[in-house]
Amino acid sequence: KHVKEPKPDWIRIKLTTGDNYQNIKEMMRSKTLHTVCEEARCPNIYECWANRTATFMILGDICTRACRFCAVNTGMPTELDLEEPKRVAEAAENMNLRHCVVTSVARDDLNDGGAFIFAETIKAIRGRLPLCSVEVLIPDFLGNEESLRVVMEANPDILNHNIETVERMSDRVRAKAKYRRSLELLKRAKAMKPNIPTKSSIMLGVGEEWDEILQAMDDLREIDCDILTIGQYLQPSPQHLHVEKYYTPEQFAELKKEGMKRGFSHVESGPLVRSSYHAHEQVNSAKSR
Ligand code: SF4
Ligand code: SF4
Repeated sequence: KHVKEPKPDWIRIKLTTGDNYQNIKEMMRSKTLHTVCEEARCPNIYECWANRTATFMILGDICTRACRFCAVNTGMPTELDLEEPKRVAEAAENMNLRHCVVTSVARDDLNDGGAFIFAETIKAIRGRLPLCSVEVLIPDFLGNEESLRVVMEANPDILNHNIETVERMSDRVRAKAKYRRSLELLKRAKAMKPNIPTKSSIMLGVGEEWDEILQAMDDLREIDCDILTIGQYLQPSPQHLHVEKYYTPEQFAELKKEGMKRGFSHVESGPLVRSSYHAHEQVNSAKSR
């Protein structure tokens, strides 16, 4: 039987909620929009929204996949909403964002995996907030190269796709996604638009070994991935994958050093780091290379 590891002190979630936070929440409801910040109960929400960074989840809130670490609901997705890009852009404008992350569930039911809506959302945000950087955190589109091209042609400021974990754990942790296919996606993105920084993320504590983390970094650097984020996996519910290990802040700091040594332009590594944490700082670090 699995022995539950106690949560260490440094995983303390402090939710400070001010007026501004409440207003934004209400605006999201009125526009029927979803943010990962809220849905994933992200511990950084107050800090990020105050820093004018937010992560929108487009293409509905029901995923065609069921990864074992993820709290998003699985099922038959909702109908495609062609007005969504416009509403996301309006919300981004209301929040006066300077960095906007756009992500989605995996829409394996759609021929293009939702690439068109991603591209339209990038364009709509640009139209309203020309100074706001736009990062897309895309699914693997089941390896569809044309879908990736549609997104790249819209010129996101950062192309993000998560490998999530080390190669050995990949099949156990992710549903349908493949480690090598994810690397291939990042490689193709770089080949299509060499000037657009690519980014990926690893969550720790699902059973990986230290050397395997370093290997994943090497794999990402081999395909010229620019930005890496590393965070602690937290179990969203008792039905989800167990936490095998909590890494210490010192170990996260050590991994940041290992990453920088390997030539990433930016490594964000810490227990509460999520894919979009401090993302606005990463745009410039990668672009000034
Ligand atoms: Fe939202 Fe990402 Fe910040 Fe979390 S880290 S609050 S998901 S922008
Ligand atoms: Fe969650 Fe993404 Fe996996 Fe869907 S594909 S279950 S949204 S991690």
